[in-house]
Amino acid sequence: MKITIVGAGAMGSLFGGLLAESGNEVCLLDIWKEHVETINEKGLWIEGLSGDRFIKIKAVTEPIEIGGISDLLIIFVKSYNTENAAKSIFSLVGENTTILTLQNGLGNFEILSDIFGQKKVIAGTTSYGATILGPGRVRHAGIGPTVIGELNGQTIARTEKFAQILTQAGIKTDTSDNVLGLVWSKLLVNVGINALGVLLKVKNGELIKGKHSLKFQRELVEEALEIAEKKGIKLIHQDMVKEVASICEKTSANINSMLQDVLKKRKTEIDFINGAIVREGEKLNISTPVNQVITGLIKAIEEAYKKQI
Ligand code: NAD
Repeated sequence: MKITIVGAGAMGSLFGGLLAESGNEVCLLDIWKEHVETINEKGLWIEGLSGDRFIKIKAVTEPIEIGGISDLLIIFVKSYNTENAAKSIFSLVGENTTILTLQNGLGNFEILSDIFGQKKVIAGTTSYGATILGPGRVRHAGIGPTVIGELNGQTIARTEKFAQILTQAGIKTDTSDNVLGLVWSKLLVNVGINALGVLLKVKNGELIKGKHSLKFQRELVEEALEIAEKKGIKLIHQDMVKEVASICEKTSANINSMLQDVLKKRKTEIDFINGAIVREGEKLNISTPVNQVITGLIKAIEEAYKKQI
């Protein structure tokens, strides 16, 4: 199985490293030159939950260096880079290539489907977690279920095969006939946690301790729920408001990824999380005032990075 990881940051390096260790022909593609050079010189260092070791793996900055078509492309750039990255990888996509997105947020599989055609794209969610420690170095920080599926809800042989390959690599993966429900359910969790965590500058557990914070979280999730319902999305939990609060409790010590981005003054995925709810609302004529305000505030914070005192 020839696999290319497109965007080999925290998650891409972790998945790529694990897939290479289990015997697949894996190449990491990333525009971060220092990271790629370090991996080629010393190997990829993974530490944390799956053990501490170097993994020998090829890394490149240009798709042309991969030499031909891949069987599977796993997209792990941040959502705001999906379109650019996708447009750079035509040379890796053949008739039988499958493109898998496990990214957070809404919009990735739509962008990939527009560029490559829906039949080539499969999507999913993962509860794995990773952090970049520096060039060539990654911490495996979270383990949990990974689920993938076809966008049209059918389960076909290739989805089963890819789930098996990921599972053999130690990433336990199931298939689902409701991948839209999965992606939306994870989206609603991110809608209720990420931006609010940024504004309060707190770990997940604190979000459900204050009555104002909890009310804000409920409003964010309820607006998104109305849209999901209108679109006929089958969410995987009965009570998403309760589910989001319960995830805050279970991950109470976590600093959510958007807060990590803001603390490092990096661009966030807000346009693909709360911003996506606002866009979907506009299409359906459903107003989403709380998500609209929080999206604007996060974008204002990004604008102010250089001037912050
Ligand atoms: P990251 O910033 O660590 O990695 C993204 C990588 O993409 C970077 O190394 C960057 O250089 C590279 N990149 C940017 N443009 C590119 C291009 N055009 N071609 C090739 N590479 C390019 O991000 P991450 O934390 O690994 O997250 C990736 C996705 O996975 C996000 O959607 C995130 O929400 C999701 N996710 C992350 C975690 C986590 O624990 N980190 C968990 C679940 C899901």
